[in-house]
Amino acid sequence: MTERALQLVLLGPPASGKGTQGELLASRFGIPKISTGDMLRAARAAGTALGREADGYMSTGRLVPDSVVIGLVAERLTEADAERGFILDGFPRTVPQAEALESLLERRGTPLTHVLQIDVPHDLLVERATLRRTDKRTGQIYHLKYSLPPPDAELEHRADDREETVRRRLDEYDAMTAALLPFYGQRGLLRRVDGVGKPEEVTARISNELEQ
Ligand code: AMP
Repeated sequence: MTERALQLVLLGPPASGKGTQGELLASRFGIPKISTGDMLRAARAAGTALGREADGYMSTGRLVPDSVVIGLVAERLTEADAERGFILDGFPRTVPQAEALESLLERRGTPLTHVLQIDVPHDLLVERATLRRTDKRTGQIYHLKYSLPPPDAELEHRADDREETVRRRLDEYDAMTAALLPFYGQRGLLRRVDGVGKPEEVTARISNELEQ
Protein backbone atom coordinates (compact mmCIF):
# COMPACT_ATOMS: atom_id res chain seq x y z
CA MET A 1 0.00 0.00 0.00
CA THR A 2 1.00 3.56 -0.59
CA GLU A 3 0.61 6.48 1.81
CA ARG A 4 -3.15 6.33 1.61
CA ALA A 5 -4.58 4.72 4.74
CA LEU A 6 -6.55 1.52 4.43
CA GLN A 7 -10.18 2.10 5.38
CA LEU A 8 -11.74 -1.23 4.73
CA VAL A 9 -15.08 -2.91 5.20
CA LEU A 10 -14.65 -6.67 5.30
CA LEU A 11 -17.61 -8.79 4.25
CA GLY A 12 -17.87 -12.56 4.29
CA PRO A 13 -20.27 -15.26 5.44
CA PRO A 14 -19.80 -17.17 8.71
CA ALA A 15 -16.71 -19.47 8.55
CA SER A 16 -15.39 -17.73 5.41
CA GLY A 17 -12.08 -16.92 7.11
CA LYS A 18 -13.00 -13.25 7.50
CA GLY A 19 -11.85 -13.18 11.14
CA THR A 20 -8.42 -14.68 10.38
CA GLN A 21 -7.83 -12.50 7.33
CA GLY A 22 -9.00 -9.39 9.18
CA GLU A 23 -6.52 -10.02 12.02
CA LEU A 24 -3.68 -10.54 9.54
CA LEU A 25 -4.46 -7.32 7.68
CA ALA A 26 -4.81 -5.36 10.90
CA SER A 27 -1.37 -6.38 12.13
CA ARG A 28 0.21 -5.90 8.70
CA PHE A 29 -1.08 -2.33 8.35
CA GLY A 30 -0.89 -1.47 12.06
CA ILE A 31 -4.55 -0.46 12.18
CA PRO A 32 -7.39 -1.73 14.38
CA LYS A 33 -9.90 -4.36 13.36
CA ILE A 34 -13.18 -3.04 14.68
CA SER A 35 -15.85 -5.68 15.21
CA THR A 36 -19.30 -4.53 16.34
CA GLY A 37 -20.03 -8.11 17.51
CA ASP A 38 -16.97 -8.01 19.81
CA MET A 39 -17.88 -4.53 21.09
CA LEU A 40 -21.45 -5.59 21.85
CA ARG A 41 -20.28 -8.77 23.60
CA ALA A 42 -17.87 -6.69 25.70
CA ALA A 43 -20.66 -4.26 26.63
CA ARG A 44 -22.88 -7.19 27.57
CA ALA A 45 -20.15 -8.79 29.70
CA ALA A 46 -19.52 -5.44 31.44
CA GLY A 47 -23.27 -5.15 32.15
CA THR A 48 -23.57 -1.60 30.79
CA ALA A 49 -26.99 -0.17 29.83
CA LEU A 50 -26.06 -0.59 26.19
CA GLY A 51 -24.98 -4.18 26.81
CA ARG A 52 -28.28 -4.99 28.51
CA GLU A 53 -30.23 -3.46 25.64
CA ALA A 54 -28.18 -5.34 23.03
CA ASP A 55 -28.47 -8.66 24.88
CA GLY A 56 -32.18 -9.03 24.11
CA TYR A 57 -31.47 -8.85 20.38
CA MET A 58 -28.25 -10.84 20.33
CA SER A 59 -29.57 -13.77 22.34
CA THR A 60 -32.42 -14.23 19.87
CA GLY A 61 -30.18 -13.81 16.81
CA ARG A 62 -31.72 -10.49 15.74
CA LEU A 63 -29.91 -7.36 14.65
CA VAL A 64 -29.32 -4.71 17.27
CA PRO A 65 -31.07 -1.44 16.20
CA ASP A 66 -29.15 0.66 13.67
CA SER A 67 -28.98 3.72 15.95
CA VAL A 68 -27.18 1.69 18.65
CA VAL A 69 -24.47 0.19 16.43
CA ILE A 70 -24.00 3.40 14.44
CA GLY A 71 -23.41 5.26 17.71
CA LEU A 72 -20.87 2.65 18.82
CA VAL A 73 -18.91 2.78 15.57
CA ALA A 74 -19.01 6.59 15.39
CA GLU A 75 -17.48 6.79 18.86
CA ARG A 76 -14.91 4.06 18.19
CA LEU A 77 -13.69 5.79 15.02
CA THR A 78 -12.80 8.93 16.98
CA GLU A 79 -10.15 7.00 18.96
CA ALA A 80 -6.54 7.74 18.09
CA ASP A 81 -5.65 4.27 16.79
CA ALA A 82 -8.29 4.54 14.04
CA GLU A 83 -6.89 7.80 12.64
CA ARG A 84 -4.55 6.05 10.22
CA GLY A 85 -7.14 3.55 9.03
CA PHE A 86 -9.30 0.66 10.17
CA ILE A 87 -10.90 -2.60 9.22
CA LEU A 88 -14.59 -2.92 9.94
CA ASP A 89 -15.85 -6.43 10.64
CA GLY A 90 -19.58 -7.08 11.07
CA PHE A 91 -20.53 -3.49 10.26
CA PRO A 92 -22.34 -2.27 8.22
CA ARG A 93 -25.03 -4.93 8.05
CA THR A 94 -27.86 -2.77 6.68
CA VAL A 95 -28.12 0.00 4.09
CA PRO A 96 -28.96 2.66 6.73
CA GLN A 97 -25.75 1.63 8.56
CA ALA A 98 -23.79 1.89 5.30
CA GLU A 99 -25.28 5.35 4.65
CA ALA A 100 -24.49 6.52 8.17
CA LEU A 101 -20.89 5.29 7.82
CA GLU A 102 -20.57 7.07 4.51
CA SER A 103 -21.68 10.42 5.88
CA LEU A 104 -19.58 10.01 9.01
CA LEU A 105 -16.45 9.39 6.93
CA GLU A 106 -17.35 12.21 4.55
CA ARG A 107 -17.38 14.59 7.50
CA ARG A 108 -13.92 13.32 8.50
CA GLY A 109 -12.76 13.76 4.92
CA THR A 110 -11.58 10.14 4.80
CA PRO A 111 -13.90 7.98 2.70
CA LEU A 112 -13.69 4.18 2.59
CA THR A 113 -10.88 2.92 0.39
CA HIS A 114 -12.17 -0.64 -0.18
CA VAL A 115 -14.99 -3.04 0.54
CA LEU A 116 -13.80 -6.61 0.33
CA GLN A 117 -16.09 -9.61 0.17
CA ILE A 118 -14.60 -13.08 0.78
CA ASP A 119 -16.57 -15.55 -1.34
CA VAL A 120 -16.86 -19.22 -0.36
CA PRO A 121 -19.55 -21.59 -1.74
CA HIS A 122 -22.22 -22.54 0.80
CA ASP A 123 -21.51 -26.27 0.57
CA LEU A 124 -17.90 -25.78 1.55
CA LEU A 125 -18.86 -23.52 4.47
CA VAL A 126 -21.32 -26.14 5.68
CA GLU A 127 -18.59 -28.79 5.48
CA ARG A 128 -16.17 -26.56 7.39
CA ALA A 129 -18.67 -25.97 10.19
CA THR A 130 -20.33 -29.37 10.47
CA LEU A 131 -17.03 -31.24 10.70
CA ARG A 132 -15.59 -28.82 13.23
CA ARG A 133 -15.09 -30.22 16.74
CA THR A 134 -13.81 -28.71 19.97
CA ASP A 135 -11.79 -30.63 22.54
CA LYS A 136 -13.72 -30.05 25.79
CA ARG A 137 -10.58 -30.24 27.92
CA THR A 138 -8.36 -27.83 26.00
CA GLY A 139 -10.72 -25.69 23.92
CA GLN A 140 -8.65 -26.56 20.86
CA ILE A 141 -10.59 -26.62 17.58
CA TYR A 142 -10.16 -29.51 15.11
CA HIS A 143 -11.68 -30.50 11.80
CA LEU A 144 -12.54 -34.13 11.09
CA LYS A 145 -11.17 -33.82 7.55
CA TYR A 146 -8.56 -31.04 7.55
CA SER A 147 -7.15 -30.92 11.07
CA LEU A 148 -7.53 -34.28 12.81
CA PRO A 149 -7.85 -34.39 16.62
CA PRO A 150 -5.57 -36.61 18.75
CA PRO A 151 -7.11 -39.99 19.72
CA ASP A 152 -7.64 -38.96 23.37
CA ALA A 153 -9.51 -35.72 22.58
CA GLU A 154 -12.95 -35.29 24.16
CA LEU A 155 -14.81 -33.89 21.20
CA GLU A 156 -17.80 -31.63 21.31
CA HIS A 157 -19.92 -30.30 18.43
CA ARG A 158 -21.16 -26.72 18.92
CA ALA A 159 -24.92 -26.36 18.52
CA ASP A 160 -24.53 -23.46 16.08
CA ASP A 161 -22.24 -25.60 13.89
CA ARG A 162 -25.03 -28.04 13.03
CA GLU A 163 -25.99 -28.17 9.36
CA GLU A 164 -29.50 -26.74 9.70
CA THR A 165 -28.28 -23.80 11.76
CA VAL A 166 -25.31 -23.14 9.49
CA ARG A 167 -27.52 -23.13 6.37
CA ARG A 168 -29.95 -20.74 8.05
CA ARG A 169 -27.12 -18.37 9.03
CA LEU A 170 -25.77 -18.47 5.48
CA ASP A 171 -29.18 -17.64 4.02
CA GLU A 172 -29.49 -14.76 6.48
CA TYR A 173 -26.07 -13.53 5.46
CA ASP A 174 -27.02 -13.59 1.78
CA ALA A 175 -30.23 -11.70 2.47
CA MET A 176 -28.28 -9.08 4.39
CA THR A 177 -25.57 -8.52 1.79
CA ALA A 178 -28.07 -8.58 -1.08
CA ALA A 179 -28.53 -4.84 -0.58
CA LEU A 180 -25.00 -3.98 0.58
CA LEU A 181 -23.18 -5.44 -2.42
CA PRO A 182 -24.95 -3.22 -4.99
CA PHE A 183 -24.61 -0.24 -2.62
CA TYR A 184 -20.82 -0.56 -2.65
CA GLY A 185 -20.69 -1.84 -6.23
CA GLN A 186 -22.27 1.40 -7.46
CA ARG A 187 -19.61 3.37 -5.63
CA GLY A 188 -16.81 1.40 -7.28
CA LEU A 189 -15.51 0.20 -3.89
CA LEU A 190 -16.41 -3.48 -4.00
CA ARG A 191 -13.75 -6.15 -4.53
CA ARG A 192 -14.51 -9.88 -4.36
CA VAL A 193 -11.92 -12.44 -3.43
CA ASP A 194 -12.13 -16.22 -3.79
CA GLY A 195 -11.92 -17.56 -0.21
CA VAL A 196 -11.33 -21.20 -1.18
CA GLY A 197 -7.86 -22.52 -0.40
CA LYS A 198 -5.21 -22.25 2.29
CA PRO A 199 -5.33 -19.11 4.47
CA GLU A 200 -2.04 -17.86 2.97
CA GLU A 201 -3.42 -18.26 -0.56
CA VAL A 202 -6.43 -16.16 0.35
CA THR A 203 -4.15 -13.57 1.98
CA ALA A 204 -2.16 -13.32 -1.26
CA ARG A 205 -5.34 -12.73 -3.28
CA ILE A 206 -6.48 -10.06 -0.85
CA SER A 207 -3.12 -8.26 -1.02
CA ASN A 208 -3.35 -8.33 -4.76
CA GLU A 209 -6.82 -6.74 -4.72
CA LEU A 210 -5.83 -4.05 -2.23
CA GLU A 211 -2.92 -2.99 -4.38
CA GLN A 212 -5.12 -2.42 -7.45
P1 AMP B 1 -21.16 -11.06 15.07
O1 AMP B 1 -20.13 -11.47 16.08
O2 AMP B 1 -20.66 -10.05 14.08
O3 AMP B 1 -21.81 -12.24 14.39
O4 AMP B 1 -22.34 -10.32 15.88
C1 AMP B 1 -23.03 -10.96 16.91
C2 AMP B 1 -24.39 -10.30 17.13
O5 AMP B 1 -24.23 -8.92 17.47
C3 AMP B 1 -25.30 -10.27 15.90
O6 AMP B 1 -26.03 -11.46 15.76
C4 AMP B 1 -26.19 -9.08 16.18
O7 AMP B 1 -27.19 -9.39 17.13
C5 AMP B 1 -25.22 -8.11 16.85
N1 AMP B 1 -24.55 -7.22 15.84
C6 AMP B 1 -23.21 -7.19 15.53
N2 AMP B 1 -22.95 -6.27 14.59
C7 AMP B 1 -24.15 -5.71 14.26
C8 AMP B 1 -24.57 -4.72 13.33
N3 AMP B 1 -23.68 -4.11 12.51
N4 AMP B 1 -25.88 -4.40 13.28
C9 AMP B 1 -26.78 -4.98 14.09
N5 AMP B 1 -26.48 -5.95 14.97
C10 AMP B 1 -25.17 -6.32 15.08
